[in-house]
Amino acid sequence: MAAQREETRVFNIQRYSVHDGPGIRTIVFLQGCPLRCPWCANPEGRGFTSVLSHNRGLCRRCGHCLAVCPEKALRMEEDGVHVDRSRCTVCEKCVWICGSDCYKIFGESVPTEEVLREVGKDESFYFRSGGGMTVSGGEPLAHPEYLTALLRGAKEQLDVSTAIETCCCASEESLRRIIKYVDTFLCDIKIVNSKRSHEILGVPSEQILRNIRIIADEYSEKALLLRMPVIPGYTDGAENVRDIAAFINTLKREVPLELLPYHEFGKAKYASLGLRYPMDGQNVSIPSRERMESLAQMFRELGVTVVHT
Ligand code: SF4
Ligand code: SF4
Repeated sequence: MAAQREETRVFNIQRYSVHDGPGIRTIVFLQGCPLRCPWCANPEGRGFTSVLSHNRGLCRRCGHCLAVCPEKALRMEEDGVHVDRSRCTVCEKCVWICGSDCYKIFGESVPTEEVLREVGKDESFYFRSGGGMTVSGGEPLAHPEYLTALLRGAKEQLDVSTAIETCCCASEESLRRIIKYVDTFLCDIKIVNSKRSHEILGVPSEQILRNIRIIADEYSEKALLLRMPVIPGYTDGAENVRDIAAFINTLKREVPLELLPYHEFGKAKYASLGLRYPMDGQNVSIPSRERMESLAQMFRELGVTVVHT
């Protein structure tokens, strides 16, 4: 399990979301995740430290950023500016000088009070729609102290509904610490076989499944939705489908499953962070509507309630 990091960084706050919990919601993204899913759509949120992103497509090649970089981490090439990540200290000087908005820093230490002020701006929408705040990531449970303060504040100061999007890869202690402040859990379920989970996601599955079971079996008053990313060749094999269904069928209450098709919306972010897109060359295509429906049918035949597919 990932140890708790001293500093928590927020890498995005997204208002007016209608996909991550009931009603209209504000999503707070915390940086840092113990998993290494190769299809991750938020590479800017995987590490626990701030990162610099650079969009070469916007660059006018004025050279101002090269002049201000104290670390000599920037060089001009034919296709625009390149960042030497081993030298960059994320000092932000290039961000401020660039008139073309080529640079952006992801990951900022923001006090929970400030996040709550931002979340509170849409109070009237939450009230009318039954929405509230969803904490996502990265993995929010990697920051139990910060997460507890944020969720408690949403409940006690704003009186709004709370949700977390989690891969459930955290200590039981971290989970139990925040559980009373959460109304809705949106939990990923990716690969049940522990060896395969370790090979592909970088972590075994036992603790993940144990945490899901705790929420399902011991906290029946909490809304719980399991979400399976459908990644051809990684998660959608017959064995994993059977394993997931068998696990869900052992829970003490009926827990619905949502199937989320593979997409490549995050691909461009990898380039802007100087990273290779891990799914390149893997010959993975976006699952068709028919494939999604047939998977949903397989789950239904195995006794699982499938939603939104
Ligand atoms: S300041 Fe911005 S536009 Fe100018 S060279 Fe640097 S990245 Fe390009
Ligand atoms: S963030 Fe600072 S160190 Fe990094 S490239 Fe920009 S100016 Fe250089």
